Amino acid sequence: MLFGNAVLDAIETKKRGGELSGSVIKELVEGYSSGEVPDYQMSALLMAIFIQGMGYQETLALTEAMADSGKRYSFPCCVDKHSTGGVGDKISLTSLPIVAACGAPVAKLSGRGLGTTGGTIDRLESVPGFSGGLSEERFKRQVKEVGLAIMEAGDLTPADKAIYALRDTTGTVDSLPLVGSSIVSKKVATGAGHLLYDVKSGSGAFMKTIEEARELAELLVRLSKSLGIEASALITNMDEPLGVAVGSVLEVRESVRFLRDEPSAADLSEVTRIVAVRLLELKGIPEPRSAVEKAISSGAAYEKFREFVTAQDGDTRALENLPVTDVVQEVGAPQTGYVAQIEALGVGRAALLLGAGRLKKGDEVDPGVGVEVLIKSGDEVEEGQPVVRLYGGRNVEKAVELVLEALKISDTPDEHPPAILGSLQ
Ligand code: URA
Repeated sequence: MLFGNAVLDAIETKKRGGELSGSVIKELVEGYSSGEVPDYQMSALLMAIFIQGMGYQETLALTEAMADSGKRYSFPCCVDKHSTGGVGDKISLTSLPIVAACGAPVAKLSGRGLGTTGGTIDRLESVPGFSGGLSEERFKRQVKEVGLAIMEAGDLTPADKAIYALRDTTGTVDSLPLVGSSIVSKKVATGAGHLLYDVKSGSGAFMKTIEEARELAELLVRLSKSLGIEASALITNMDEPLGVAVGSVLEVRESVRFLRDEPSAADLSEVTRIVAVRLLELKGIPEPRSAVEKAISSGAAYEKFREFVTAQDGDTRALENLPVTDVVQEVGAPQTGYVAQIEALGVGRAALLLGAGRLKKGDEVDPGVGVEVLIKSGDEVEEGQPVVRLYGGRNVEKAVELVLEALKISDTPDEHPPAILGSLQ
C-alpha cells in the first residue's frame, strides 16, 4: 500500500529522470487499480514517463504488475500471435487455422476494432451465430478438442485497461515503454508459451517508420522472453491495406477465399504464410514450410476453420455467401499512370466513415459495409478504371474524397514495396 507522499515522490523521481524501483511500480499499479491513486496523479506520472522514458527493468516491472492485476491463464503448449494493428489485417483468420491444422494448438484472446484498426472478434462475429464470449472452461475444452479457440479478452489486465483509457485522454499513448508493457502484459496474462509479434510499420500503423517498428519489436520480444514466453517478431508493411478487403464481412470473405486456396492478394498470401511458418518454428514443428503448403492445398486449413467456427456456434453454411450491403459505389482512377501508393490510413478512414469501424469504444459496427481495394502499388491504371469499391450508404461523398486522396498515381512505375520489412528471432 502507498502511503503519504509516496506517489508524489515517484512523480518527482520520474520527472527528474530517476529510476523507480520494481516495488514502487507494483504499488503504483495496484494503488491505481484500487482507486487509491487518483487520476490526476497517475496522469502526471504517465506524462513524466512519456517525457523521461523508462529503463528496461522499470518497463519489465510495469509489465508484470499489469499482468498480475487480473485473471491469468496458462497455455504453455499453445501458440499465439499478436498484431500491433492495421487496415485490413485479417492475418489471424488466415494463419491460425493453418497452424492449428498442422498440430500447433492456438489459444487466442482478441479484441474489437477501434479507429481504423479492425478487431478479430468483430470480424468473426459477422458470421451468423458466432460467439466470442466463451466461458473459461469452454475455451480450455475447445483448445484441447479443436486446437483453435479465439475469445474476447474480458477480465484480463484491468490495470492496463484503466491506464490505457487514461493515456488515451492525456496524450501519453505513443510512449515505447508504455506501449510495450501494455501489449506484453496482456500476452503474459493470456499465457500462450510461443508467441509471434507482427509489428506493423507504415501510414496505417501505430509505428510510422521501420526504425520505430524495430524498436518496439525488440522491446516486445525482450519483455516476453524475460517473462517466460518463447517469442519472435516480424515487421510487416502497413503503408497499404493488407489484401483487398476492409470491413468485417468483406474480410471474412477474403479469408475464406484464401483458406480455400483460391486466388488471393500477394501480400495477404505472403504475410499469412510467413506468420504460419514462424509459429510452427516457435512450436518446433519439423519442415514448417511444407506443412503450411500442405495444410492449405489439402483443404485441411479451411476444414479447421469450419470446425472452429462450428465450435463457437457459427453457421458454416453462411460462410459461402456472407451478405454485404447492396449499396455499392465504384471509384475510378482520376488519371492514367502507375499506382505509387494507395495509402492505408485514408482507406481505413473511409471504411470507418462508411460504418465498418467504431470511433469510440461501444459504438456499433456495421458488418456488411467497408472498402475493397482493386489495385495495388505498381499496377498500371487507365483514367476512369475502378480502383476502389465502397460498400455502404453513409458518408459516401467524404469516403470517396478520402480514397482519392489516398491514391497516388505517377507517370513511371515504382518498385512494389515488400510485404515483410524485417524479422527478429
Ligand atoms: N496496443 C496496446 O495494447 N497497448 C498500447 O499501448 C498500444 C497499442
